[in-house]
Amino acid sequence: MMKTTAELRTAFLEFFNQRGHEIVPSSSLIPAHDPTLLFTNAGMVQFKDAFLGLEHRANPRAVSCQRCVRAGGKHNDLENVGYTARHHTFFEMLGNFSFGDYFKPEAIRYGWDFLTQVLKLPADRLLVTVYQTDDEAYAIWRDEIGLPEEKVLRIGDKPSGGSDNFWQMGDTGPCGPCTEIFYDHGAHIPGGPPGSADEDGDRFIEIWNIVFMQYDRTVDGQLHPLPKPSVDTGMGIERLAAILQGGHSNYDIDIFRHLITAAQAVTGAADQKSSSLKVLADHIRSCAFLIVDGVRPGNEGRDYVLRRIIRRAARHGHKLGVDEPFFYRLVAPLVEVMGPAYSELANAQAEVARVLRQEEERFLQTLASGMQVLETELADMTPGGTIPGEVVFKLYDTHGFPFDLTADIARERGLVLDESGFEHAMAERRAQSRAASQFAQQTHVLEIETPTCFEGYAQDKAQGALIAIVHDG
Ligand code: ATP
Ligand code: MG
Ligand code: MG
Ligand code: MG
Repeated sequence: MMKTTAELRTAFLEFFNQRGHEIVPSSSLIPAHDPTLLFTNAGMVQFKDAFLGLEHRANPRAVSCQRCVRAGGKHNDLENVGYTARHHTFFEMLGNFSFGDYFKPEAIRYGWDFLTQVLKLPADRLLVTVYQTDDEAYAIWRDEIGLPEEKVLRIGDKPSGGSDNFWQMGDTGPCGPCTEIFYDHGAHIPGGPPGSADEDGDRFIEIWNIVFMQYDRTVDGQLHPLPKPSVDTGMGIERLAAILQGGHSNYDIDIFRHLITAAQAVTGAADQKSSSLKVLADHIRSCAFLIVDGVRPGNEGRDYVLRRIIRRAARHGHKLGVDEPFFYRLVAPLVEVMGPAYSELANAQAEVARVLRQEEERFLQTLASGMQVLETELADMTPGGTIPGEVVFKLYDTHGFPFDLTADIARERGLVLDESGFEHAMAERRAQSRAASQFAQQTHVLEIETPTCFEGYAQDKAQGALIAIVHDG
């Protein structure tokens, strides 16, 4: 059944509303009262207190379509954008929630009925995972829903620790097993089923994660059953739309086709399939909504994440041959497709374009010279080579290239970055600027170099990519 993304959004909210769920609007991308979280990255974020029992809600059932950003911080999909069919920096998460109300049988039944009866997805394309010890969920899928046993996979803990199918809010507090629903896009697409060695391929795409919060983990690590367990679910609307619109990649859905066409028009790119156009279509959404929610490009925390995404977009424009500000011109096409669902975006259109244009102009002053420096350095390198830390630092310090921007270029050419060399150069610079600022204090000189707020890098094991860790706002 063909459905637009807008129709899907409405269908989901209505389905759960008819089943007693209060429709709750999306909250801001900046989590209220939660300095530990960089951005809202799931529908449950605004309901955290309800799950913790700190907030009493008149209706114990809720449904939402939540705007989410997963860039920077613990959940970082920035490096995946342009490379997988299913990851965005910004996406919308459909979710239904039970705060101590219904539990496993209803949650599974609702999910299955929505997918197979309302959306009429073919049941034989769906398969599910449960946590290895969750016999209850397993039995519901097999006996009540009627899935054949080979379609219900038990997923255990990963050798590296943790599990895709055991969710926890933090080191302590509510936690519990998940069941996830996957869609098989067909044997012509590379990738194995969940739990297999090549599960990161794009054949079996996870569409819906249903979390059963049934334990409270105490500081000693013990799990205590919660008297009134809860349900938290999340489904990426773009992944669902891809299936319903007969495509495979999220970038084939209505919203992205519109944005990619616009990106091609403003950049003059010859090849509509260029992954740079996907990157631009992705990044305009996260940048615009972050600005709508009050973030501004800067050197710290959330602001620095926004700056990194804008600069990454600008670099992809440069790669396509554009040498003037262009990214801000994607705001109008974005408002065309997402303004109707998000009036806050439509209302802020002019401001969003202004902020983007200003940041582009600022970066364009150094982008071309930085690229030249990099090209000279890379001229003699062959795939597998390492870009020296001092070069990465110089690009950062003199040309405003965030670390992951250089990493993006390196990845395209099969190169790696010397991370520790970069950190070393960064530490030296910090020590210098500390000394300079002490000297300045002593001598009452007012011009002190602004210290950078860079804190180092973490290796994301799953992606093998480097992620900047910056202050959390
Ligand atoms: P994946 O394993 O594909 O990275 P996930 O397990 O990290 O997904 P969850 O944290 O379970 O995702 O989020 C719930 C749902 O949100 C997912 O099932 C998926 O449909 C959607 N989703 C998660 N991350 C993204 C993303 N970066 N872009 C688009 N949709 C996403
Ligand atoms: Mg993920
Ligand atoms: Mg997953
Ligand atoms: Mg998941």
